[in-house]
Amino acid sequence: MATKIRVLEPDVVAQIAAGEVVERPASVVKELVENSLDAGARKITVEVEAGGKRLIRVSDDGCGMSPEDAVLAFQRHATSKIRTADDLHRITTLGFRGEALPSIAAVSRVELLTREHGSDVGTKVVVEEGVIVELSSVGCPVGTIVSVHKLFHNVPARLKFLRSATSEFNQIADLLTRFILARPNVSFTLRHDGRDIIHHSVEATGGDLRSTVAIVWGSEVAKELVPVELSTPKVRILGLTSKPSLTKSSRSYQVIIVNGRCVRHHGISLAISYAYRGMIPSDRHPVCVVCIEVEPSLVDVNVHPAKIEVKFENEAEVQRLIIEAIQLTLVKVVVSPGMALKPPASVDVHVQKRRGQKQDAFGRLLRARLFSPSDSTATKPAQIPQGAAMQAAQPSHTHDSSPQKGTQPMEQIEMGLQTDISCDANLLIAALRPIAQLHRSYILAEAQDGLYIISQHRAHERIIYESLCERATDRHAIQWLITPMTLSLGQAEAKFVEEHLEVFRSIGVEIEPFGGNAFVVRSIPAVMLNQPYAQLLHDIVAELMLEQRPRTLEELADELRASIACKSAIKAGEALSMHEMERLIADLCKTSKPLLCPHGQPVMLALTTEELNRRFER
Ligand code: ADP
Ligand code: MG
Repeated sequence: MATKIRVLEPDVVAQIAAGEVVERPASVVKELVENSLDAGARKITVEVEAGGKRLIRVSDDGCGMSPEDAVLAFQRHATSKIRTADDLHRITTLGFRGEALPSIAAVSRVELLTREHGSDVGTKVVVEEGVIVELSSVGCPVGTIVSVHKLFHNVPARLKFLRSATSEFNQIADLLTRFILARPNVSFTLRHDGRDIIHHSVEATGGDLRSTVAIVWGSEVAKELVPVELSTPKVRILGLTSKPSLTKSSRSYQVIIVNGRCVRHHGISLAISYAYRGMIPSDRHPVCVVCIEVEPSLVDVNVHPAKIEVKFENEAEVQRLIIEAIQLTLVKVVVSPGMALKPPASVDVHVQKRRGQKQDAFGRLLRARLFSPSDSTATKPAQIPQGAAMQAAQPSHTHDSSPQKGTQPMEQIEMGLQTDISCDANLLIAALRPIAQLHRSYILAEAQDGLYIISQHRAHERIIYESLCERATDRHAIQWLITPMTLSLGQAEAKFVEEHLEVFRSIGVEIEPFGGNAFVVRSIPAVMLNQPYAQLLHDIVAELMLEQRPRTLEELADELRASIACKSAIKAGEALSMHEMERLIADLCKTSKPLLCPHGQPVMLALTTEELNRRFER
């Protein structure tokens, strides 16, 4: 009987395999440039005609190939980069599968010119639809030139799906930009239809990342970037990230580089967004180049056919470090552009001594926190006595802020991982002495190194927010109502509350269904007591429901805390006595992140004495 199943002919197999690697002109450029980089090239030129549909030529000054290797290079699974399966765990090259050249050659006409260093003559190999049609000795420069003609001429299905030359070229230009940012110490030129479109020369930039950014994204962008750096024994993060003042409408100005390889990584993108949470509008994205260096054994690069995704052994740790690194930088920018967060001279000897034991104590303390969370009790503030601050302050009707809908999706990112800059920031705040209130909204405080301007609302928000975080363990912070209150809600709201009773209880709102759309509330966080709390609860529920995206229970609880904190905190426009201001600063000092409000916005700004002197030219 005739079989229905047939083993495919080798040329069909080759075309199918090519489909995985070579999707469009940009994928060809990617593979060829990767080969040039792997060959140690210092200078790479990419020439493209008709968006790459007519010609793609990549020339490099790398190590070149012998005539034998030049032929072997076109065999499937032929590579000089790995030998055994074990080598897959220690990949330091961009390529390793030995698939690119044969895949490209299966769907085009490829001409390879190559000469090894020390050899007087080069080799020319021409391959058409996977078959070598010419092999000869030729004169050519040291290095390799690969020309790809008539891409997909034998695969009509692919050809049909190619976009216009401009659109295909734009993808190539975007790719080249990323290569340049990932390898600022290599010179690149991109030429389209005879015109130089991108040119980056190491002579001009010295391989410096910021100068390189200025070339590819412009100097306006480059000057708005601030350096990011953090390392642990296993991971090192380096790069540039934008001040909150510079954002883009998409993530296309974010480059993630893992061990020199440009990748897409959802988890890292989320971490970047998380780090900016509350500092930029939720529909905007920062600009950044983030280089992550990890031991090759801790990252799997063999998870995507075109190698544009990687998998970290410990993704959560990398995310945490990214957030730490970026927030550490941002907090400094936000508080004062010119001021390093160094502790004032006159504070807590005990803590000073601990710092003194280590060089770079700031960074190390941070890292110690990161890797042994239990250690964090060492400098954790004492519990804030419920309602300690600002009891005298009565609510007014002036609102200086409302909760921002600025939070980003962060499925895998645990809450509470924001930069813990408390080690230095608390020292700084401990030394602040209030001198006046400005516009009944800001506390002006002095320290040895300058003038600090504190938003009274945001400072109080931070204090209340943290007291709510401790609520689960602190029964005193809950106010039981002598007469339980009934809360009638709309249908959708009632359903929402019913599904989230535990979330409300976790922060001290004891609430039970009471039939229909009504609920009975038996306790509230004590901070709400002086407020029109029934109204506040209505508002808070409505606000929580406005946000459409799915959130974890912990995220919801956090929003609830932030929302209560915002509504219960003293507002702009409320007069404060000197004593109240001192109290507020003292309470702020006990919080774990005194520089940021719960929405991640700055609590204070500073004007250093240096800056003042400079302005008055002293
Ligand atoms: P891979 O990069 O995964 O090894 P490729 O098919 O891309 O597979 O290339 C096959 C081999 O050809 C490489 O391992 C390398 O030895 C050689 N090669 C390819 N391009 C170049 C180049 N530009 N310079 C020097 N050698 C190259
Ligand atoms: Mg390759």
